[in-house]
Amino acid sequence: MSATPSRLLIKDGTLIDGSGRGPATNSLIIVEGNRITQTGPVDGSARPQNADDTVIDAAGKFILPGLIDAHCHISLHQGALPGVRYTSRAEFCTLWAAYAIGRVLRAGVTSIVVPGGKWFTDVTVREAVEVGLIEGPRMVVASRALSNYGGIFDPDPYPAFEGTPADTAGVLCNTRDEFIRETRRQCKRGVDLIKIADSYWGDIQTCADDEIAAVADEAHRHNVKVAIHSRGSTSTRAAAKAGVDLIYHGDLATEADLDIVAKAGMPIAPVLTSPWIGSTHGIGTRTGERLAAQLRTSYRMIRNARDRGIPVLAGSDTGNASAFAHGKWHGKEAELFVSEIGMTPMEAILANTSGNAWLMGLDGEVGVVAPGKLADIVIWNSNPLADITVLQRPGEISAVVKDGRIVERAAHGFRKLVDDPPRARRLASG
Ligand SMILES: [Zn+2]
Repeated sequence: MSATPSRLLIKDGTLIDGSGRGPATNSLIIVEGNRITQTGPVDGSARPQNADDTVIDAAGKFILPGLIDAHCHISLHQGALPGVRYTSRAEFCTLWAAYAIGRVLRAGVTSIVVPGGKWFTDVTVREAVEVGLIEGPRMVVASRALSNYGGIFDPDPYPAFEGTPADTAGVLCNTRDEFIRETRRQCKRGVDLIKIADSYWGDIQTCADDEIAAVADEAHRHNVKVAIHSRGSTSTRAAAKAGVDLIYHGDLATEADLDIVAKAGMPIAPVLTSPWIGSTHGIGTRTGERLAAQLRTSYRMIRNARDRGIPVLAGSDTGNASAFAHGKWHGKEAELFVSEIGMTPMEAILANTSGNAWLMGLDGEVGVVAPGKLADIVIWNSNPLADITVLQRPGEISAVVKDGRIVERAAHGFRKLVDDPPRARRLASG
């Protein structure tokens, strides 16, 4: 047995390290175990030292931290797959989730935040990844979203029944006590995040201020973060005052609301990809037009947020509906950040890597390729600084390294089932 542990050497590529530093050509990255031990110009240490060393020649390629998607559902939606009688049943849902995370990882996304899903499926899948049972990205997960009557996860505004059946992604909480009880229950079952869900469009505020505050207080005592689906003005203001950790969407937030968010200090993840997909698929329909208008409002809001120094996180809403296929859309948000918000490609890369790391509870551990960091690395064939849309083309990936291990990609391919999925039942925007 060799005295030196085996190493992974990535050499001769251009390193875009996720810190904001400019690209470094002819780079050498050395990985031992699950950590990066060395980065810098290619030197004598680029030679393999023992037979188990792996060398990746990245000449002409671009080495980036693994992408981090701050809004990626896994068990939320299974679609209507031919041959599967009931896709929403717990057993199939879990299988689907295990399959979906593989697609996400092979698209270069090494960490995801899962803001809502069915049962405790995402907790189970996260644990299965952690113990090495299945391969997938690092996961920070919520369970069913806490929603009250009229909220986005109250499944039907004109119900033949009332309440939320077990296979839905929301759980009804209609009093402050019910919000607290459900928060406690989910914390006990191992979530990393509580998701509160206000109204679908933000035109009304469904969650009362004191309910949002009660959830934040309860979750924080359990060291669990809180995120809210908040499109409205008053709900965003209430969330900021309650001290939630992250606001999703926020499109109707006024400049006065954003002043309060800026003072409170939490980031906003606008999740532009979701209405972009919805409006593109729904051209000419009422919902499509409404989503296009929502998108324009979001662009304006997030520019205002950036003017105030509010951190802007990147999340795609992958997995929300059939149109949001796993592995396909994770890089779209970066393009919209550049084309519509005015970020430089470098800023958009940071928003999709190091900028999301704290949400994973791994600030300074992932999202940057540097000595001592966890080895989550993706090698792209083209330069995303020259063309940010590279990040949404998994076909341009030559290698994915997660936790120091090279992810097997060739055997899987991108299967017809999900590349050409059945039509969405509706274009949700959770
Ligand atoms: Zn969502």
